Amino acid sequence: MSKTVLTGDRPTGHLHLGHYIGSLKNRVALQDEYNCFIMIADVQALSDNFDNPEKVRANVVEVCKDYLAVGINPEKCTIFIQSLIPELFELTVYYLNLVSVSRLERNPTVKAELQQKSFSESVTAGFLTYPVSQAADITAFKAQLVPVGEDQLPVIEVSNEIVRRFNRVYKTDILLEAEAMLGNVGRLVGIDGKAKASKSLNNAIFMSDPSDVLKQKVYSMYTDPNHVKMSDPGMVEGNVVFAYLDAFYEDKEELVSLKAQYRKGGLGDTTLKSLLNGTLQNLLDPIREKRESISGATVLDILANGSKKARKIAQQTLLEVREAIGLIDIAQ
Ligand code: ATP
Ligand code: MG
Repeated sequence: MSKTVLTGDRPTGHLHLGHYIGSLKNRVALQDEYNCFIMIADVQALSDNFDNPEKVRANVVEVCKDYLAVGINPEKCTIFIQSLIPELFELTVYYLNLVSVSRLERNPTVKAELQQKSFSESVTAGFLTYPVSQAADITAFKAQLVPVGEDQLPVIEVSNEIVRRFNRVYKTDILLEAEAMLGNVGRLVGIDGKAKASKSLNNAIFMSDPSDVLKQKVYSMYTDPNHVKMSDPGMVEGNVVFAYLDAFYEDKEELVSLKAQYRKGGLGDTTLKSLLNGTLQNLLDPIREKRESISGATVLDILANGSKKARKIAQQTLLEVREAIGLIDIAQ
């Protein structure tokens, strides 16, 4: 039997090139061989957007459009909405007993996200415990492979700890540990040079950006402040344009020689930006075109079918979990 893969995204905005290179490309490649589930994590998105449910609701459809536009095929992958699978939240409650508050507080992903988000002083219980809810998502489908960006590795570790503890405490082997799968770029930098391109930092190139917006973002990228004249030697490290060329420019040999030329002096920022703009326009042209052709009604249909299918599987796992814990079973 082929391995099961679970991935997902929070519907807090359209998907960006970080998603594409960090995990969407892998998902498209995996869908032919694996049993793939893709979750639109609207409940998780509420954990830091509880006061803006309209944003979350509207982006469920947009994220699904991004999936279809990059080539995820709903005939091969089950795409579903987290909030339509209430079994996930019952699993979360059982798992909350299996992890300490200090373990959650020490989680490097959560710590970094807290600094980035608005509630640094008063983190809600919902946000602190999202890795537990993610453990429920992964285990409900018995996923063994989870394509994620590098920032999510510590969260997958928490999930595996919960799995081991559950199996040990309840003397069972029903829950499976999962392996994280990184894309060839684990973490794409923001166009502002920040460590991570992200929806909420608004420093990303979105796959749906029209061509003029894309161009404007590329030309605004941070390069090397000391590279003033074309003849000046320039820094490649920390240079956002090179980070994006590393991720998206196919001709790696030419890239090596461009870097050498830039370091020596004699290669202008505008030439590089024009190369990157062309590369990204070529990548995104067909994606944007496909996106335009997808109707909202088609998306809702796909999500309704996928959620129905996903729910059946989660229901089965929940039955096994309740039995393993030994909860009272009275026919109703
Ligand atoms: P938000 O700002 O709302 O947290 P986000 O841009 O971080 O949004 P998520 O929906 O949280 O996106 O992440 C979905 C998946 O995409 C995760 O597996 C995450 O690791 C991956 N991902 C997000 N941003 C990047 C990036 N810049 N580089 C590589 N992977 C990324
Ligand atoms: Mg995020």
